[in-house]
Parts: sequence; structure tokens; C-alpha cells
Amino acid sequence: MIVGSHVSTRGGYREAARGAVRIGGNAVQYFPKNPRSMQLKSFDRQDAERCAEWCRNNGVVSVAHGPYLINPAAEGEVADRMAASTRNDLEIAEACGSVGVVVHFGVYKGDNLLDGYRNIVKWVDQALDGWTGSAKILLENQAGDHGPMGTTPEELTTIRSLSARPEAIGFCLDTCHLFASGQWNGTNWDEFRERAGKLAFWDGLAVVHLNDSRYPSGSGRDRHARIGEGFIGADGFRELLRTPELDKVPLILETPVGQDGTHAGQIARVRQLSGMEE
Ligand SMILES: [Zn+2]
Repeated sequence: MIVGSHVSTRGGYREAARGAVRIGGNAVQYFPKNPRSMQLKSFDRQDAERCAEWCRNNGVVSVAHGPYLINPAAEGEVADRMAASTRNDLEIAEACGSVGVVVHFGVYKGDNLLDGYRNIVKWVDQALDGWTGSAKILLENQAGDHGPMGTTPEELTTIRSLSARPEAIGFCLDTCHLFASGQWNGTNWDEFRERAGKLAFWDGLAVVHLNDSRYPSGSGRDRHARIGEGFIGADGFRELLRTPELDKVPLILETPVGQDGTHAGQIARVRQLSGMEE
């Protein structure tokens, strides 16, 4: 299995990847640039290429995560700036040899949700216009904390199919968001798995954000808990982790760290819950 956590790039991209392996992982997620700003970054290409090479040589899969401010459902000048920022992230991800850039589905405050969906299709097309790299935009399902938009596999697969560049779009499934939104309630995993399969969702799945939830299913609250310590619990993860569709997908922890200040304990726990190491 491929598992790791979100790490800091304080020492550069390659050091971030190395740090992931030191805590027992073979996957890593990082912010290509300051996650609180959309300012374009002229990045250290040499460090990024060393990161790509190191990951290749050590069997590590890396994933980039875009800034929190990115909202694909936005419109106008701000949407243009967000698309340019994501394009910049794609360039950094490509140089680092990463699978792609995770972007949350989007929040729309207008009266007609359909306008929001239209904005998202337009936005991904803009961010990907002329893009020839292999790094993808990875649309992530949402927790429902801003309304129901972006919580279902139907929405993710539909945006992809309406886009001009479906091959450049993949999916990121956040387990806390799936649970908080009520899509998964701890007893319907098989049903969800089948439903997502019919949509070809699993074929497009590139990353899983493996997070437990501090609040019950259907709460709509996006608060991550350590694996096995939230409402999904050990049994929920045991069932999820034995899903063959997830075997080759990097599982990234975005949970609070353990007592040692790292995710080492949770990475070991995930391997154990998957039944790979008992
Ligand atoms: Zn996430």
C-alpha cells in the first residue's frame, strides 16, 4: 500500500519527501507554495527536480495541495487569478514529479447552483488551457460545511466529463469529508463503493485523504481526527482499507500528529488496519 502524510516544505521539496520516508511512509503531500496566498512562486527548479529523482529512486509518490483560497466556483477577475495560481502549482508539481495538485471542489454563494457548476467547468478549462504536463488537477470532495455542493462522486465525475480536458483531471477522496457530508455513514461502504464504480469514479481516483472525523456522519463539519480516534473509527477504516480499488492509490494523512510530533504511529496503524501487517 502507498501511505504517508502532509509534511512541511521548510527544508525544500526533496527534504519534504525524505521526511515522509523517515516516519515509515512511501507517499507525501506538500504545499507547492504558501497556502495562505495566491501569489505566483518562482520556485527552485533544481530542488524540485532533485525531489522528483529522489522519489523515483525510493519508490515515493508525491502529491501537491493548492492554497486554501482557491475556489473553482468563483467568477470574474478573482477566478482568473485563482486559475493562474493553480497553473503555477501544476508547474511546481510537474517539476517535483507529483501526481497532481489537489483543489477543493468549490463554494458557490449565488442563488442558482447551476451557475456555480458552470463556473467550475469554465475554471478547470482555464487552468488547464494549453497544459501539456502529466500533473493533474485533483478535485476533492467537500464536507458539506458550505452547503451540499461538491460532496458527491456524481458531481466530481460530471465536472470531469464536461471539461475540455477530462484526461487532465483526477479525483481526491477525503474520508472525513465523505463521512461528515453523510455520503458514508459507517454502514453503507459497499453501497457507496458500487455507486462510485458505476460512475467510473475509482478509475479517476488519484489520491485519498485519509482522515478520521471529530463529528458524526451528516454533521457537515470538517474537523479531522487521528485514525481510529474519531467517529469513523478503527472498524470503519478496516472496511475502507480492504477495498481493492484503493490498493494503488496514495493515502495521505491530514490528521493531528501523534505524541512524538509526527504521523509515524498513524502510518503504522493504517498498515495494520489494512490487514497487510498483522
Ligand atoms: Zn482533504
